[in-house]
Amino acid sequence: MIHRFFFGVVAIATAMVAIAADESSYTTADFEHLRKFDAHVHANMDDHRFLDIAAKDGFELLSINVDYPDFPTLENQARVAHALQAADPKRFHYLTTFSMKGFESPQWTANTIRHIDAEIARGAVGVKVWKNIGMVVRDSQHHLVMLDDRRFDGVMNHLEARHIPLVAHQAEPKNCWLPLDQMTTENDRSYFRDHPEYYMYLHPEMPSYESLMAARDRFVARHPKLIFIGAHMASLEWSVDVLSQFLDKYPNASVDLAARMTQVQYQSNADREKVRQFFLKYQDRLLYGTDLTEDPPDPHQRAQNPPSDGTPFDVEADKFWRSDWQYLATPEVQHIEALKADVRGLSLPKSVIDKIYYSNARRVFRRLPQ
Ligand SMILES: [Zn+2]
Repeated sequence: MIHRFFFGVVAIATAMVAIAADESSYTTADFEHLRKFDAHVHANMDDHRFLDIAAKDGFELLSINVDYPDFPTLENQARVAHALQAADPKRFHYLTTFSMKGFESPQWTANTIRHIDAEIARGAVGVKVWKNIGMVVRDSQHHLVMLDDRRFDGVMNHLEARHIPLVAHQAEPKNCWLPLDQMTTENDRSYFRDHPEYYMYLHPEMPSYESLMAARDRFVARHPKLIFIGAHMASLEWSVDVLSQFLDKYPNASVDLAARMTQVQYQSNADREKVRQFFLKYQDRLLYGTDLTEDPPDPHQRAQNPPSDGTPFDVEADKFWRSDWQYLATPEVQHIEALKADVRGLSLPKSVIDKIYYSNARRVFRRLPQ
């Protein structure tokens, strides 16, 4: 009887310790010594500035090659990725991409598969598609090519069969389709004010936000075994409720948080507990990322990448990483200029932070070197 009581007390005490440990959160200072993974950056320079600040702050990097006219050519992006990977294979990782040139030619599928396989053999851990699919590339009939176009099937079935992850940036933040005074963040407002050519509210002839999301959803549904990562919160950054529905509907999908943290903060300022519950519920499906971009040719062309104000890159990267850490990992309050508001951190449990900041990326990108 005594023994049973004693063990019962020990069991309860142990369980309480486990709950306490699980629920406790990291501090601002913990940032320095925890291993972390930024699953969405663009290292476009063959220097070591990005790697140096990543090493200093304890990050591994996943640099994403992208068919983006304002970035260096695809060949140059690949060359930089190969060089940085050779310099630090444990810290630097990359995604390859493919060109849409010759999309309608009979050789496009075979050539694209050959290119992807060669890059995977060289160390790429996945493939990226950009918003040029859906918003820029037109076929010979002048129709915009959507992600669910059947002409992608050969390539996408190949990725699915080989368990090669696909990171898809489709559409834009929903703000892009809203009038300026209805946008939720200053960074979107100033960017789209300065770039009317990319501001879809001014281009009713272009596909609607909803139609782009629907094409993406049809694509994900058609490839249920594809390891699918929706870049930028799958462009559902404006509502954790809608993003929850997406994640529930497509169990093969994860999302990265790159360049959309202010949208999360906007929502948590309205209802912190709801956003916190979202992170707890989907803790296995969220990948930390920033979209930090080292020196694109023209800073004015930086779409949704963190804005540059002439600050040295390593200072900027360090600042972004620490601000996000403070928001996700700690309960501290900070001022967020893009919202013109103070934002209280989510103070997520350590176990959840460990997943979002590290182990989810390592699980999803299974080809990462150990
Ligand atoms: Zn990006």
